Amino acid sequence: KSRIDDSEHLCIYSADIGQQLKIRSQLEQALIHALERDEFEIYYQPQILANSGQIIGTEALLRWNNPQLGSVSPEEFIPVAEHVGLIRPIGEWVMNNACKQLKAWQDEGLPPLRLAVNVSPLQFIDPDLGNAVKRIIQKTGIKPEDLELEITEGSLMWDMETAIKMMNQIKQQGIILAIDDFGTGYSSLSNLRHFPLDRLKIDKSFTQEIGTSSGSTEITLTILTIGKRLGMSVIAEGIETQEQATFLRNNGCDEFQGFMYSHPLPADKMTQLLRDGATIGINLKSAECESV
Ligand code: C2E
Ligand code: MG
Ligand code: MG
Ligand code: MG
Repeated sequence: KSRIDDSEHLCIYSADIGQQLKIRSQLEQALIHALERDEFEIYYQPQILANSGQIIGTEALLRWNNPQLGSVSPEEFIPVAEHVGLIRPIGEWVMNNACKQLKAWQDEGLPPLRLAVNVSPLQFIDPDLGNAVKRIIQKTGIKPEDLELEITEGSLMWDMETAIKMMNQIKQQGIILAIDDFGTGYSSLSNLRHFPLDRLKIDKSFTQEIGTSSGSTEITLTILTIGKRLGMSVIAEGIETQEQATFLRNNGCDEFQGFMYSHPLPADKMTQLLRDGATIGINLKSAECESV
């Protein structure tokens, strides 16, 4: 009896895996053509000064819309892009187009804005990254100080010397360096001081538990303190409530990013927001925003 049970289990199990592999390979196949078929779009989420609500930056967030698969989350397709070796061309596409957009905002005379672009650990170890970024800056005509690269703890896991060398290549150009999703990876707190980072982003998993989990509240405070002590500017992502904002503001967090202020917006909606005035207060109405 138990043998039959076993084999049934095995069957169900392998059908599941087979299905998963099929979906995965569909995703890979579609992703290979996504750039040439112009299926990507960049959304922009405002970053605001904690004390004034002034929009001083924006994070470029990639969106993929495929005719067959619909809209696929970056949480899902970025790892696939990394796996199949597409993250470099896709990453360059994002950087190039986001910088072009920033230049268009500058040329229109809108208030100064810093542009943050996410960089995967696989892009980060590319020895040509520094040159690629330099070329894009020159071609689009933005200033290096307008550009911020968000790396994750995964990029700190390469040997320290190599990581620091890569960072210096970027920093020497005047580009701003931020550590994203801080506290979710495996990098050690004590190593942080060796890296030439300008900014630290508190991960939304901590932000969102402020006030509800004492553990997360304490970790948030600790991350804030470490960032400040190391001379970094600290930004919190994932702010959704007034309570979170107040707590973070009272504890010295410099900048905010979250749905409470604005969802990520398509370029034309972001342009409209900037034209309407560069300050956002509490609830920005989300009628024209991305649905969650
Ligand atoms: P991330 O860089 O940590 O970006 C922040 C994510 O949090 C975004 O998700 C954003 O939409 C979401 N978010 C912002 N505010 C809130 C909030 O108040 N509540 C909640 N629940 N979420 C909020 P998104 O756009 O889905 O991107 C997910 C991740 O995909 C990014 O996390 C980043 O790691 C990656 N990603 C996105 N675009 C790119 C890209 O161009 N290149 C690379 N390498 N990775 C990217
Ligand atoms: Mg980011
Ligand atoms: Mg983040
Ligand atoms: Mg995050």
